[in-house]
Amino acid sequence: MLKIAFSPIYKYELPEGHRFPMIKYELLPEQLLYEGSITEAQLFHPDPLQEEQILLTHDSRYWEKLKNLELSAKEIRQIGFPLSERLVTRGTHIANGTLQCARYARRYGVAMNIAGGTHHSFTDRGEGFCLLNDIAIAANVLLQEGEIQKILVIDLDVHQGNGTAQIFREEERVFTFSMHGAKNYPTRKEQSDLDIGLPDKTEDGPYLKVLRDTLPRLLDEVEPDMVFYLSGVDVLASDKLGRLSMSRAGCKTRDEIVLELCKRHDLPVAVSMGGGYSERIIDIVEAHANTFRVAQQVFF
Ligand SMILES: [Zn+2]
Repeated sequence: MLKIAFSPIYKYELPEGHRFPMIKYELLPEQLLYEGSITEAQLFHPDPLQEEQILLTHDSRYWEKLKNLELSAKEIRQIGFPLSERLVTRGTHIANGTLQCARYARRYGVAMNIAGGTHHSFTDRGEGFCLLNDIAIAANVLLQEGEIQKILVIDLDVHQGNGTAQIFREEERVFTFSMHGAKNYPTRKEQSDLDIGLPDKTEDGPYLKVLRDTLPRLLDEVEPDMVFYLSGVDVLASDKLGRLSMSRAGCKTRDEIVLELCKRHDLPVAVSMGGGYSERIIDIVEAHANTFRVAQQVFF
């Protein structure tokens, strides 16, 4: 069964006119349920993470400041959401969603979180709408438990996974792969194990060719026993922040390439959603919905 992490707390109330399309967290499960791609029975509500799980990844000083709502005005500005207890709690539910997805993926092949992909969160700070790094937290918990030896992070959000790259810079058991717009935020990039920066306005053809040329080789070289896939849909031409020129169909083919390859290699894959900032909410929701539809088709 395709298990999907979702909780009403995922949708965080933002001030009127805020540029983050928070409503997608509500519309996406609604759409998938309405069209019959998924049923209620597939959804699960993740609990909050435990503190010691967070501290495997994040600096205790950062976590204390976050939890006690003591970040400076500048630090809060860099995160980009108004800070509140609910926002922090929400982050721990989302990160646990990704961890539980990883566990379900080992049982069912794939599992997906209707949020997450908070890859701009570093060991000791957050930025770009990211407080806690869900994939890093889940990866570190799995490694500590000792059931997983080698992890591959496939980060195809249009922005570089700078936080994830920093967190795992010295960790040989996690291979970080980020393919992103070369000229996009963050302007100062971290070094992933493999970075591919694409030129502005890259279209479906060249994008998918690079992906098809890279991924199979990467799986052979890295030999992971678990994959985390960050499926941001800010690669779309309609995206306000993205700078690339992918079509919705191209974005769907991207998901097929990743998920079919994982399936063929018998590799459990946990999917986190990542960004999407198209003008029209339907472009965002449809592209995210495709990732879920593709997973359902490929694996079940
Ligand atoms: Zn992004």
